Formats: sequence, structure tokens, C-alpha cells
Amino acid sequence: MLPLALLNRDPLLRILILTLACLLAACNRADAPVYHDQFFAFGTLIDLTFYDVDTLRAEQASRALEQAFMQMHNDWHAWQPGALQQMNEQLAEQGQASSDPAMAALIQEANRLSTLSNGLFNPLIGRLVALWGFHDDEPPQGPPPASDRIRKLVEQAPASADVQVDDLQISSRNPAVRYDLGAFAKGYAIDRGIEQLQMLGIEHAIINAGGDLRVSGRHGQRPWRIGIRDPRKTGVLASIELAGDESVFTSGDYERFYDYEGRRYHHIIDPRSGYPANATVSATVIHPIAATADAAATALFIAGPDAWPAIARQMGVEYVMLVDREGRIHMNPAMKARLTFESEPDTVILSEAL
Ligand code: AMP
Ligand code: MG
Repeated sequence: MLPLALLNRDPLLRILILTLACLLAACNRADAPVYHDQFFAFGTLIDLTFYDVDTLRAEQASRALEQAFMQMHNDWHAWQPGALQQMNEQLAEQGQASSDPAMAALIQEANRLSTLSNGLFNPLIGRLVALWGFHDDEPPQGPPPASDRIRKLVEQAPASADVQVDDLQISSRNPAVRYDLGAFAKGYAIDRGIEQLQMLGIEHAIINAGGDLRVSGRHGQRPWRIGIRDPRKTGVLASIELAGDESVFTSGDYERFYDYEGRRYHHIIDPRSGYPANATVSATVIHPIAATADAAATALFIAGPDAWPAIARQMGVEYVMLVDREGRIHMNPAMKARLTFESEPDTVILSEAL
């Protein structure tokens, strides 16, 4: 069995496992062409599958998508020079910034979802994420930051209510605001990608970013079948069939983390404490819109085994599964009805509250 650390470091291997089910399904049908391509963006492999498209059109669409993803990756990067960094600097120094239409729409949607999550998904806590050392391509080594520095940033409480978007003008009344769209931009970009494909006449497709994905259309007579990664061992925890416009996003403590003196410190920070949220190991959400699924997976990870149904309802999410740190599965009946587990889980806690 492959160690998790290797799996973590090897995006190729990870994507191979996560998409195995859907690729097998795609390869089975000989009568309609299945096109497959990959490129890197948003720190992960973006994996494209188109069904029933001729090769030339598929290649053109794939190149267009790659270009669009690279642009979004550069513009919205949390710590490398680009439009978002420039906006963050202007907001910190002058309390206002001018943006472009794509950025203004992105910020507005991120703020809306943040409010719906009671601020658990909080894209304005870039300073905290940076303090924890996650604004780097390499995961930090520890030790964790000093508690008084964490407390200070928590007390400054940057929140969506601090920011006003007025056409292309963005203003902030809190100098601690610093956008980090790492929990959301990938989903938002996938939505733009699916729109682009639909404009190019490609109806049946998957855009898969390291296991987080959105499907459109169908795979011929069959729905798409995809796997949800097991957060604690190599392989698939459960699989699910998707048809029409649906997205599946998972937030996990295994994505970016370091172990220091026997404790795991990972990249999903609870804005209320300033520390990594530690009751959950993975949270999976299905929703038609990838941006909502992405933001909600992060928010519900932080909400944890008790609070997730209330936050999910507020965010308009109908299908949720959490794995808690004891390995227990928490989900709602509608999610349970859609999942096929690889092996029967030991403990399942169903919430009728969603
Ligand atoms: P995800 O894997 O979608 O849950 O996103 C995790 C990433 O989002 C982290 O690497 C940070 O860049 C950022 N992040 C961490 N904590 C939060 C939070 N509470 N709200 C929004 N973004 C966060
Ligand atoms: Mg997310």
C-alpha cells in the first residue's frame, strides 16, 4: 500500500485513483468518442473528459480551457504577484481598490457565500493562512505560529461585512482584510470552464481538479460515475453517479499539512479560533454549482459533526458527508441514498436535520 505522504506529493497518482471509476466508464463505450486531456493549474492537475465530441473540436476546446485556467490561476493567486495580490495591497493601504468585472463578480460571490456560512468559509483570512505558513508552494515544517500572533489576527476579525463591492470599486473598512480564495477559486473556475464548454457546443464533459469536479450532461445512456477519496487510506471511500449539472467537492486535512510534535496542523483554519479545525478529516458536498460546493465543503469541514446541517441548509446544500476524526461517517439520508461504499463503514450517523 502507498503511504499517504507519497500520495500527497504525487498529484498524478492521486488524480489517477480519484478518476479511475469515471475513466473506466468512459473507456467502455466504443461507439462514441471520448476525449481526454490534462494540464496543471491551481496547484493541481486539471483533468478533462469530453464525451461524443470530434477530436478537432475537443482539442480546440481543451486549449481554450487551459488558457482560461492559466489566466484565472495567475489573476487570483493568493500569494504570487497578480491582480488579487494588487487588490489586497490597495485594500490594506487605501481601504479601496478598483477591480475588473471578473474579479468583482468573484469577490461578490465569495462574500455572499461567506455570509451564508456564518463566516466559517471566510476568504478574507489571508493573513491567518499566511501566518500558518500555507502561502508557499511547499508545506511548512512547523513549529506552529505563536499563540499571541494568532489571537491578534482573530481579534481583528476580517469578515465579508467589512467589504463593499460597488460596480468595479471594492472598499474595505477593516485593514486586516486580505483575500485568499484557495477554498473557492477552483470551484468558481470550473463553473466558468463548464460555461465555456457549453458555449463551444460541448454538452457532455467532466472538469476534474484533483478530485474536485463538475460534470455536465451524461456519458451516453449512463450517468458519470466518480470516486470519493478515503481520507485515511489509499483508494476510494465511496462512489457516486452524477448526471446533468452536478459538482462534487471534498475538503480534507490531508491536502496540505505538517506534523509537529505528534500533532497534525493543516490548511483549513477555523476563523473563530485561528487554529486548524480539528473535529473533521474530510467533508464532501454535492451541489449543481462548483463554486458553492467548494465554499460549502470548506465551511462544513469547519462546522464539524454537530453544526454542519444548519450551515448546509443556510448555504442551500442538499447532499453532505463528513468523516470525523474517529472515522465515523456523518451524512443526511439523501446523501446516503446516492453513495455506494467500497466497504460497509463501521459507524454511520444520519442527520434528519437536512
Ligand atoms: P479547501 O481545500 O477548498 O477547503 O480550501 C482550503 C484553502 O482555503 C486553504 O489552503 C487556505 O488557502 C484557504 N482557507 C483556509 N481556511 C479557510 C477558511 N476558513 N475560509 C476560507 N478559506 C480558507
Ligand atoms: Mg473549498
